Amino acid sequence: MTAAEQGTAGVEMAQDATEAIPAGFDAEASRGRAEALEAIAAEIRSCTNCRLHVGRTKAVPGEGHRDTEVVFVGEGPGFNEDQHGRPFVGRAGDLLVRLLREVGWRRDEVFITNVVKCRPPENRDPEPDEIAACAPFLQRQLAVLDPALVVTLGRHSLGRFMPGARIGQVHGTFREAPVGSGARDALAYAMYHPAAALRTPDIERQSFADVRGVPMALSQARSHRERDRGGAGRSEANEGSEANEDSAPTPTASSAFPAPGSVPGQLDETIDIPLASEPGEAVTSPGEPVADPRDQLPLF
Ligand code: URA
Repeated sequence: MTAAEQGTAGVEMAQDATEAIPAGFDAEASRGRAEALEAIAAEIRSCTNCRLHVGRTKAVPGEGHRDTEVVFVGEGPGFNEDQHGRPFVGRAGDLLVRLLREVGWRRDEVFITNVVKCRPPENRDPEPDEIAACAPFLQRQLAVLDPALVVTLGRHSLGRFMPGARIGQVHGTFREAPVGSGARDALAYAMYHPAAALRTPDIERQSFADVRGVPMALSQARSHRERDRGGAGRSEANEGSEANEDSAPTPTASSAFPAPGSVPGQLDETIDIPLASEPGEAVTSPGEPVADPRDQLPLF
C-alpha cells in the first residue's frame, strides 16, 4: 500500500514510500533532494517571517515524490491541513486525488505544496506580504525538485507562475514558468482551485476536462526542457541539493517571479501523443475513469 493510499503521506512518509528509486534516477541526487526538501520543511515549521505563524497549529511544507516531474501548487492550508501539517487532506484534497486519477496518477507520484505554508485565519485569501514572505520557500522547493511542469491550482498560485493572467481565460493552458519562480526550464499549467470546483458544478466539470490536458503539457514540458538543456537530464542540471543555487536566481521575496519570457500556451507539433480533447472542453463526467488511455502518461 502506498503512503497516499494509507492517507498519511507526510514529507517523511512520502520519502519512505519512495525508497525504491525509479529507474533512470541518480540515487545520490535523489537522496540529496530528500535531504534538501526536509531542510526546507524544517525551516518552514519554525518560520516566523509573517503574521500567519501566530495562528497556525502546524505549518504545511508540502509532500510528495522527491523525484517527480510534476508539482501541484495550491493557495494555502485550510482547517484540515493546519491540523495535520499536510497539504490538501480535506474535501479539496479528495477532489484533487480524483482529478489525478483521471489521468492515471496518484498523489504520491507528484509533489503537492502551496503558495503560503501556514493557514490564513478563517480561510481568508493570503495577503500580498504573506505571499511574498513565503515565496522563497516555494522557490527553493522548486529549485530542489526541478519539475518539468508546475500545475497551478487557483488564482493565487496562478499569480506566481502566470503574472497578470486571469484564471477564467487561461485554465487548461500552459506557458513557460518564470525563471525566478524556482522552476527552471519548466512549463506552468493553469487549473481552477479544487475548492472552487467543489462550490460550482460547471467548474468541477471544467476541472476534469482541464486535468486531461496535464499529461500533454508534461509531454510538451519534457520536449521544452530537452531543447533548453541540450539533452542534459535533471540529475546533471540539478544535483538535488541547494548547492547549485549559485546558478539560479537568489531566492528573495523581491526577486521572485518576474514576468515570463515567452508565452507559448499552445501545443506544438513535435508531440506524438494526441489529446482526445482540446484543453477546456468538457469530455468526461467527474469521477469517471479515463476513457482514452492515450491521455495518460506514466510518471514513473
Ligand atoms: N487548499 C489549498 O490551496 N491548499 C491546501 O493545502 C488545501 C486546500
